[in-house]
Amino acid sequence: MSELRVRFAPSPTGYLHIGGARTALFNYLLARKEGGVFVLRIEDTDVERSTQESVDAILQAMDWLGLSYDEGPFYQSERYGLYKSKVAELLEKGHAYRCYCTPEELDAKRKAAIQSGGKPRYDGTCRNRADQPDTPFVIRFKTPCDGTTAFVDRIKGAISVENTELDDLIIQRTDGNPTYNFVVVVDDAEMGITLVIRGDDHVNNTVRQIPMYQALGYEVPEFAHVPMILGADKKRLSKRHGATSVMAYREMGYLPEAMVNYLVRLGWSCGDEEIFSMNDLIEKFSLENVGRSAGVFNPDKLLWLNEHYIKTGDPERLAVLVTEILAGQGVDTALGPDMPAVVKTLQDRAKTLVEMAEGAHFYFEAPDTYDEQAAAKFLASDKRDVIELTIKHLTGLADYSHDGVETAFKAVMEESGLKFGKIGPTVRVALVGGTVSPSIYDVVAVLGKDAVLTRLQKALASLG
Ligand code: GLU
Repeated sequence: MSELRVRFAPSPTGYLHIGGARTALFNYLLARKEGGVFVLRIEDTDVERSTQESVDAILQAMDWLGLSYDEGPFYQSERYGLYKSKVAELLEKGHAYRCYCTPEELDAKRKAAIQSGGKPRYDGTCRNRADQPDTPFVIRFKTPCDGTTAFVDRIKGAISVENTELDDLIIQRTDGNPTYNFVVVVDDAEMGITLVIRGDDHVNNTVRQIPMYQALGYEVPEFAHVPMILGADKKRLSKRHGATSVMAYREMGYLPEAMVNYLVRLGWSCGDEEIFSMNDLIEKFSLENVGRSAGVFNPDKLLWLNEHYIKTGDPERLAVLVTEILAGQGVDTALGPDMPAVVKTLQDRAKTLVEMAEGAHFYFEAPDTYDEQAAAKFLASDKRDVIELTIKHLTGLADYSHDGVETAFKAVMEESGLKFGKIGPTVRVALVGGTVSPSIYDVVAVLGKDAVLTRLQKALASLG
């Protein structure tokens, strides 16, 4: 076990999006690689926007991606006692103070500051006041007036800011609730987090948080701020660029390993390798190879990875997933052909599980009607002999393997004197209803004798 303790700290105000999932993944990978501990903390202090539904969605998405955590989930909403005691500690040590300025007064100060060309910061009116009037107050952190706050980011390098640039942050609101920047410090310290990996939209928070660690006598953890994710137009990734919810991709038939592989490459690289299993990543991932520039979300590459994982996936496992999709579409697969065998015929043809399910329909539901153009060409009355001959040879066939079926078709070709091109398409339309399907030998082998003969008889009956 190493000393490394990392955490993922989502706010449950929506689904798990691409950016959050990547942050979670980086934390997970580093923890697993170094034998550290991965903590999950739900930051639900924003009572109005936090929902149980979002918590569930986030947990479900992490589970789908395979990002297991070692401790938690901890909920900030259950830790108010701790935060209160830490606010009291800061007050007692003189690192925090009650601020009685009204919203109107603060607004006026802000406007005056902007007008005089200054920064709209709190002017410190209540910093040294001794009285405690009986009016509403917030509690502010007393940011040091001089010196600098500096840290060496594990991704971005040295970052520093003059303390005079920092505001006296509110750590407890008028209603008694603690604020985000404060509880994050308390939690990261109390949970023994040694390295905070999060999005670089938090860099400005980090320089505000460090003085609070120091005031509370906590050790300051290391930080690694991950560059953000952009859309193809180089604007921050949003719904305009396509689905941003991780689970939306599951719905669209993506495999979690494709998503994991894609997410990690949005910011991390290892030479020019593209394909990484989770185990590869646990071995190879390092913050040193996380780039400093923003990643660009490319749905085509995600689809390409998904196609790869479908092609190379275990048919038994894919069968379970495709069965679920088909069940959701009301297709009963229980009486149909063996699902892994079905999957094997489609693995080279589908980019998503949804496409695979679509391609599998005909195995479980005989065509009611035939594609009009296909039928006009391949199920015209002159096809009677070919169909009858095929029925004859497939009836006599005992071995319904790919090779067995091939032998039967060879016999049909020989007896009829026709090339495969004059037989195969007709059989295909009869069996699947149209002109697109996996190899006809595979289709016949997988459908099996009964289904094949029934469908051929039906096609025969349909001829004029
Ligand atoms: N709860 C914050 C968010 O979802 C993350 C805070 C952090 O990682 O420090 O943006």
